[in-house]
Amino acid sequence: MRAAGAIASLILVAVTGLVGPPAQAAAPPGKPPVKRPVAEGYGGAVATVDLDASRAALEILKRGGNAMDAAIAAAATLGVTEPYSAGIAGGGFLLYYDARTRQVTTIDGRETAPRAMTSTALEGIPFDEAVTSGLSVGVPGTVALWDAGLRKHGTLPLREVLRPAIVTAERGFVVDQTFHDQTRQNADRFKDFTSTAALFLPGGEPPRVGSIFRNPDLARTYWELARRGPGWLYGGELGREIVATVKRPPVAPGATRVVRPGLMELSDLRSYRAIERPPTKVTYRGFEVYGMAPPSSGGAAVGEALSILEALPRVGLHEYLEASRLAFADRNAYVGDPAYVRVPLDGLLSDVYAKERACLIGPVAMPHPAAPGSPEGPHAGCPSPARSPAAGGKGERPEGPETTHLVVADRWGNVAAYTLTIEQTGGSGIVVPGRGILLNNELTDFTFGPAPGDPNLPGPGKRPRSSMAPTIVLKNGRPVLAVGSPGGATIITTVLQILVNRIDFGMPLPEAIAAPRASQRNLAATQAEPEFIERYGAELSALGHEFTVFPGPPAGEIGAATGLEFLGGGRVQAVAEPSRRGGGSALVVTPAPRR
Ligand code: GLU
Repeated sequence: MRAAGAIASLILVAVTGLVGPPAQAAAPPGKPPVKRPVAEGYGGAVATVDLDASRAALEILKRGGNAMDAAIAAAATLGVTEPYSAGIAGGGFLLYYDARTRQVTTIDGRETAPRAMTSTALEGIPFDEAVTSGLSVGVPGTVALWDAGLRKHGTLPLREVLRPAIVTAERGFVVDQTFHDQTRQNADRFKDFTSTAALFLPGGEPPRVGSIFRNPDLARTYWELARRGPGWLYGGELGREIVATVKRPPVAPGATRVVRPGLMELSDLRSYRAIERPPTKVTYRGFEVYGMAPPSSGGAAVGEALSILEALPRVGLHEYLEASRLAFADRNAYVGDPAYVRVPLDGLLSDVYAKERACLIGPVAMPHPAAPGSPEGPHAGCPSPARSPAAGGKGERPEGPETTHLVVADRWGNVAAYTLTIEQTGGSGIVVPGRGILLNNELTDFTFGPAPGDPNLPGPGKRPRSSMAPTIVLKNGRPVLAVGSPGGATIITTVLQILVNRIDFGMPLPEAIAAPRASQRNLAATQAEPEFIERYGAELSALGHEFTVFPGPPAGEIGAATGLEFLGGGRVQAVAEPSRRGGGSALVVTPAPRR
């Protein structure tokens, strides 16, 4: 095994021209590198949760690649350094501002259900059992998204944009506290799969902080992908291996866990397509806010909440929570995969509907739960607040900081905002043997049922509803902001809160991102970070709001955002989290002197 691995690595080095044989090329162990959450300058900018990923994007930008090339380079590197959140066996959504056409487009690389998955396929299955199973593995969309993105907007071939990720996988990276903690949280299920334990629990333990973590299998997988193209996954040998793993997960001898097999066939991979979709759009205080359309509920819910806020005479935290509550009532009732259900998107984002919804917001918190409205009318002016049992109880499942969001701008003014995921931290927990990649468990985003009429029940080929909300804000057709975050359904509230912090409360972007968060998703009690409750709990409780500390994991921490602000004259500020999820990394091509 070792000899075969070494030979394959040498071939890899020879073919890609990567420096040195792997043993000498390994990164030196030591302290995890210092990440800076804010950078300002010219010529291109990036913010991700991870220094290696930000550096990968910067390298591509410096070599003349554009924002699309660099975004994919960063995403591929996150597949190495953030393998529990991102990877080619997952999916995601990308927004792209093309500076030449001044248009925002989106690519939907969401996973699909296999054709054999019916509306009742998840009924009665305990959620925890579905989480670690072949059954919840969706047909991966990430590689199709990269392929579509590079074809439409990129300037470099896939092998060039994968190169930094291949180097990082081969040489290794320094394990930080976040990687260590996430491995430890997953150890119980990782040990139940031979392939996963071998990769992520070397010697039976999570890798130590400061040690070097290498993933030569992944380096070879990327290299083969670059050489053979997306067809290697969508119908070829890698696809066959994925299907085999989904159908017969490599359960460790002696493991007692019930591991349900999946329904995926090679034909499901063959028929997978990334979809270019028009973005959602609302205008808010003179800005044009573009988001991700269904099957993500990100653009619909952020857009509806903003429109409601604009219809109000004043906007404070009370209004933010109430608008979010109303938008979630509608999101839960109406949003699903538009190829399977009719989503009243225009209605949800219309001003007339926003005015009607805004009428429900009074000086005190409205009764829980908020009922969905009638986005397509008839519009009856100001209805009285109503309760609907059907509207409550959803979104109560844990919403961790899984997933990852990145933003990139290039010297020409193109902008990419890209959220990608394998669903839960660690996805299904199942590594494809010999390939170094974790399979997603995205199909747990479906409503399990029974829930007659729910727009998000599973279906053959259907995409589960997402909350991912990559967002680009323009003014007069020019980029002003780009933001996004991980965090399941809290993604929507995090993005909304950052926009309100920046646009309404006038916070500079680093402050808007760092500020303590609260997430009201039509829940009885608003989930919040402890600092939010300390600062604003008393004044908001006096208005009838209830709070509970966000359960996590990790408890008390919501999201891990990244963003860009375009300051004019080509100057860009790149911003990541100062401390959530260990802090992120912002870099620019040419740093500006401090102002
Ligand atoms: N699966 C989630 C979604 O699409 C993203 C993963 C997460 O951040 O929880 O909304």
